[in-house]
Amino acid sequence: MFAQAAQALGYRVHVYEESGPSPAGSVADRETVAPFGDVDALDAFARSVDVVTYEFENIPAAPLEAISGVVALQPAPAILSICQNRWREKAWLRANGFPHAAYAEALDGDIAPAVAAVGIPCVVKTADFGYDGKGQMRISDEEELARAAAIFRGRRCVVERWVEFEREISVICARTQSGETRAFPASENIHTNHILDLSIVPARIAPSVEERAQALAARIAGRLGVVGLVAVEMFLAPGGELIVNELAPRPHNSGHWTIYAGETSQFEQHVRAVCGLPLGPTGCRSPVVMVNILGDAWAWENGAVVGEPDWSAVLREPRARLHLYGKPEPRPGRKMGHFTVQGRDLEETLALALALKARLSGPGRATSA
Ligand code: AMP
Repeated sequence: MFAQAAQALGYRVHVYEESGPSPAGSVADRETVAPFGDVDALDAFARSVDVVTYEFENIPAAPLEAISGVVALQPAPAILSICQNRWREKAWLRANGFPHAAYAEALDGDIAPAVAAVGIPCVVKTADFGYDGKGQMRISDEEELARAAAIFRGRRCVVERWVEFEREISVICARTQSGETRAFPASENIHTNHILDLSIVPARIAPSVEERAQALAARIAGRLGVVGLVAVEMFLAPGGELIVNELAPRPHNSGHWTIYAGETSQFEQHVRAVCGLPLGPTGCRSPVVMVNILGDAWAWENGAVVGEPDWSAVLREPRARLHLYGKPEPRPGRKMGHFTVQGRDLEETLALALALKARLSGPGRATSA
């Protein structure tokens, strides 16, 4: 989606991927498939382009540091390094006075002292390489603590107080080299099994909360000094307090609604910011709901795919747009695509989106069985 947005502005795109051929590579002008740690391949890649950005956080920061002398790299690797590790991210939020859930680091591979410090209920998350609920577990009693302690033994983790939030929202904010920031409207996010399921825009929050959320994201973008996008995931606590959960210095799943319903898509905004162009307007053209399509929507039997979702209802609905990523094979929990539904009334749009979602895996699903 980023490559397509860059090409629409006349750029040519060279993708660097560890395991290819990748969906991004299939639409890019060029693709290099090599390990992230391959310094020679990275160097050749860096010399072939004018600016490098990334849309995935689990890239080791060191090789990126190595090429940052050769080519402009945005957002800066130091920002990636903060956002890709939960210890560093929490410490950064704390040091800069941004609101976050109470947490403790599990330092020596034993989560019990950190759980005792934070209290139950809590959630344990691996410090590195966790996303979409991977490497995290909620702990609500002693039995679950014992189970989690065994699973996470020897791993670097953070234990976080469970927040009984009213709503979960995110704000994606763009920042330019000169320090101009522009935030998109907040998206209300509904997660299932720790994975984003739905994004709803406008978020069903008071205008004053929306304003505070956008201002908080812009302050974070400024303090990070990011050039590009930063997505700020937040919990809205019952008293109206906003608590930052996670930062991502890249286009974000909760911003996919901007492709059709945004005045500027988040991908184009990222291109604009990292290429030094003026930022675009960030308004939302109409109420919109984004539904993620996971590999679970395929028909499965004994661990094998036996049928594809029924796309017809989404394709027939004039208010809906389907977007599939071209990933080689579905897997449970894997994000395969999304669709968005726009309408005049938010609740009606949400109801339509949920009905279309149910149809994907409904009786019309094609099965080879
Ligand atoms: P994360 O990978 O940290 O974004 O977590 C994925 C999802 O798990 C979040 O979007 C929340 O729905 C849930 N979650 C994570 N941490 C907490 C927490 N401290 N309190 C409540 N829910 C949480």
